[in-house]
Amino acid sequence: MTLATKPQRDIAPEHQMVKDADEQSIRPLSLNEFIGQKKTRENLKVFIDAAKSRQEPLDHVLLFGPPGLGKTTLAQIIAKELNVGFRATSGPVISKAGDLAAILTNLQPNDVLFIDEIHRLNAAVEEILYPAMEDRQLDLIIGEGPAARSVRIDLPPFTLVAATTRSGLITRPLRERFGIPLRLEFYAPEELAQIVARGSKIVGMDITPEGAFEIAKRSRGTPRIAGRLTRRVRDFAHVDGGKKVDAKAADAALLKLEVDAQGLDSMDRKYMRCIAENYGGGPVGIETIAAALSEQRDVLEETIEPYLLQCGLIVRTPRGRMISDAGFKYLGLPLPGNLKDRQLALMVDLPDTGDIS
Ligand code: ADP
Repeated sequence: MTLATKPQRDIAPEHQMVKDADEQSIRPLSLNEFIGQKKTRENLKVFIDAAKSRQEPLDHVLLFGPPGLGKTTLAQIIAKELNVGFRATSGPVISKAGDLAAILTNLQPNDVLFIDEIHRLNAAVEEILYPAMEDRQLDLIIGEGPAARSVRIDLPPFTLVAATTRSGLITRPLRERFGIPLRLEFYAPEELAQIVARGSKIVGMDITPEGAFEIAKRSRGTPRIAGRLTRRVRDFAHVDGGKKVDAKAADAALLKLEVDAQGLDSMDRKYMRCIAENYGGGPVGIETIAAALSEQRDVLEETIEPYLLQCGLIVRTPRGRMISDAGFKYLGLPLPGNLKDRQLALMVDLPDTGDIS
């Protein structure tokens, strides 16, 4: 699905062309500037220092975690810290083996090649990536029919840094070829407050620590959302004469954006109300909810449900989605009489597929 078909929400975790045009300006450029993900950062530092001292390329790195947590940022930082070149592409862009061959043969020794959305790489391209990652060799078939011949090309040493939001969709042979798998976690509000404070400084907004915390609390554990809300709050502050932003001013600006104290917006509330009011709290199938809201199923699954599940406001059962007790409380609606029985009969979460989005 293209970005254009998704609604442009302030609190969507994935990249949005229109709202994130100036995202690049607040991207941290070194491991020291990168806030949070302490374990990942510390481990990466050790691996990078070791590779540098041995003057070898870093082992291939697989970054996985929900959108907006800093995978692209970390890939760029890895190249900077290693002092090598950085080439970026993404799974859906590489449609033919020849596209990947062209990228790989143009790398300089020890360069970092970043492939975003690696789970969307097609099988034929994935096949030629294996020997490239393992033996630095490219096996290509040139020509067609009886005249076809296979050629083997030696590649320069390189590090593949791949990112995915759907680790469950990566094939085992591909996954096993990454020496350094790193999982990114949602950020704590204290870490996001530091990210907001840093971002505010860069975009020239005066903000109090309480103001930064107010934005952080509503950012769904995600730096991209924290950055976007910071820029929106700056717009309100600007119109307000550039006064220092405290908790009250941040709260007022975010309420105007319809982002409430928990970081939920009108789409989240519409989704929850639909289950609570039209289907007595559920269970109701995702296709039915999608049809009722005139929304695509993917949009609900990728951008609305993960955070509502994380907050415990909805529950996924084998027979569909349900609103939890906390969800009814959030909506200010009374609990339906037989909800507890329905929940008890169904309170089995879907089997874990290893899919983390
Ligand atoms: P992903 O590739 O996981 O979708 P990005 O690396 O593009 O996420 O990060 C999204 C935005 O969040 C970027 O603008 C980046 O500046 C910011 N960001 C991500 N992680 C951090 C962090 N740890 N500290 C500060 N800013 C961050």
